[in-house]
Amino acid sequence: MTNTDLQSRYLDALGIQRWVRRDLEIREPDTEDHEVVTDNKPADIPPSKPREIPLVDWETLQAQVVACIACELHKTRTQTVFGVGNRTAEWLIIGEAPGADEDRQGEPFVGRAGQLLNAMLLAIGLKREEVYIANILKCRPPENRDPRPEEVASCEPFLKHQIALLKPRIILAVGRIAAQNLLKTDNRIGALRGKRYTYEDTGIPLVVTYHPAYLLRSPQEKRKAWQDLLFAREVFKSQSQQSV
Ligand code: URA
Repeated sequence: MTNTDLQSRYLDALGIQRWVRRDLEIREPDTEDHEVVTDNKPADIPPSKPREIPLVDWETLQAQVVACIACELHKTRTQTVFGVGNRTAEWLIIGEAPGADEDRQGEPFVGRAGQLLNAMLLAIGLKREEVYIANILKCRPPENRDPRPEEVASCEPFLKHQIALLKPRIILAVGRIAAQNLLKTDNRIGALRGKRYTYEDTGIPLVVTYHPAYLLRSPQEKRKAWQDLLFAREVFKSQSQQSV
């Protein structure tokens, strides 16, 4: 499938009106606002310290998450939301935290934002079942408030374990909270988009895009998200070529 076909599918799935000048074909969006940071870390992101984490298997890790009472959120959750998808996936999608639907169903991104995420992934040829989806937090913050630093810190070892088990070829951080916490920065998401980072000391490339819930509120930004997805696909391809 050509990029133009993909673009059409994406724009249709997301309900974006296509304008075609009579004298021009639909042009694939260029990636001019994307900067490839080949030395991996933009200057404001401090290098991370390697951490020793004894590796357990998926089932043990999931049982640890289910039993977790490390922060206050265990008191208000219906259930933990571990993550979902293919445990040999090459793509890892990381969001913020479970919302009401996810808290009820025990699976990330199952509400309206999840449907949009599925459409975004499909537009670059990825079925939901092919990727792995997780969140910064495994428990829902009450009233969907932002995660607190101590909650993120308590939950981080679980996500790091998932990353160590999965060994994805690319991480797509969706939304400000995911991007800021994964990259350990306070920069605005608009400034974080369009660059190739690496996740801490793993060497795994990381790309940032908008959260689908934000795109539902601000549909005019969907075109930028499409550019991010194309950029992520290019980063993934070049990563895959390097490791052949
Ligand atoms: N938003 C997220 O960031 N994660 C979910 O699982 C659902 C909504």
